[in-house]
Amino acid sequence: MTVRCVQNCVTLARRAGTPHKGAKQRKGLMMRLGVIGGSGVYDIDGLEGAEWQTIETPWGAPSDQILTGTLNGIDMAFLPRHGRGHVHSPSDVPYRANIDAFKRLGVTDILAVSACGSFREDMAPGDFVMVDQFIDRTRHRASSFFSSGCVAHVSVAHPTCGSLSEKVAKAAATTGVKLHPSGTYLAMEGPQFSTLAESRMYRDHWGADVIGMTNMPEAKLAREAEICYAPIAMVTDYDCWHPDHGAVEVSDVIRVMKANAANARATIHALTQDLSGTHAPCPHGCDTALEYAIMTAPEKRDPGLVAKLDAVAGRVL
Ligand SMILES: [Zn+2]
Repeated sequence: MTVRCVQNCVTLARRAGTPHKGAKQRKGLMMRLGVIGGSGVYDIDGLEGAEWQTIETPWGAPSDQILTGTLNGIDMAFLPRHGRGHVHSPSDVPYRANIDAFKRLGVTDILAVSACGSFREDMAPGDFVMVDQFIDRTRHRASSFFSSGCVAHVSVAHPTCGSLSEKVAKAAATTGVKLHPSGTYLAMEGPQFSTLAESRMYRDHWGADVIGMTNMPEAKLAREAEICYAPIAMVTDYDCWHPDHGAVEVSDVIRVMKANAANARATIHALTQDLSGTHAPCPHGCDTALEYAIMTAPEKRDPGLVAKLDAVAGRVL
């Protein structure tokens, strides 16, 4: 176990490629792939030099220690979203600490894996969906690193990274899993599943394709931290709208989840085989999201908040 202080982590992140203060253009950054494992995915196998590290952040402790190492030559960081043993409820996952910790470790790209329910007949249990849009119905979670004292507005019109998602989709396709290339994910607060009326509304009137409890505010925070983010949603059930499948049965969800976890691990391995190890400037602008986002005048900024933003927004502060 390694305990690293905040300042050391920032130094390490900068060595790994996180740009220094004032940097405007980043070319040929070393890639570090962060993987956030959802329900059923609590570790990844085959990492060389694997080490569980304790990372401290100004936003508190992450969900768990972070597993670092290399896989097929790619620098990796893995974090089980709910913690090993599934200890954090969706409402209580420390989303800000998780993303901040990844940033301190020099993570440039995140593959976010999570279980979901499906609103579409053709998105069946066992299928994977490359989520590219969200409807955020969460309401008990801090959803931004920024607040009074340092206000910033980033665009989340396209909340995922199209470039990284293409690579993930290609990797998933090699595993034989049925992959849907796009989908709208409704993020609910939970921890209960939907009522029938909610499920019908999301499906019939809101245009949602899948439903889950954890990708928001994670995607928004990754964008604020200028990290490319690609969420893969693994279908476990039909929520409760489906007349032939009835209400969600937890035992069914767990059985499908285990099969999905195996496919997720195979996808991660295939993805690392296809990556070059270099993070080129993102064509979608994920890695420059803060360029013009901070609105608060420099002399009006809260020094305490600015200090907390050292990793997330150090490039522009
Ligand atoms: Zn990107």
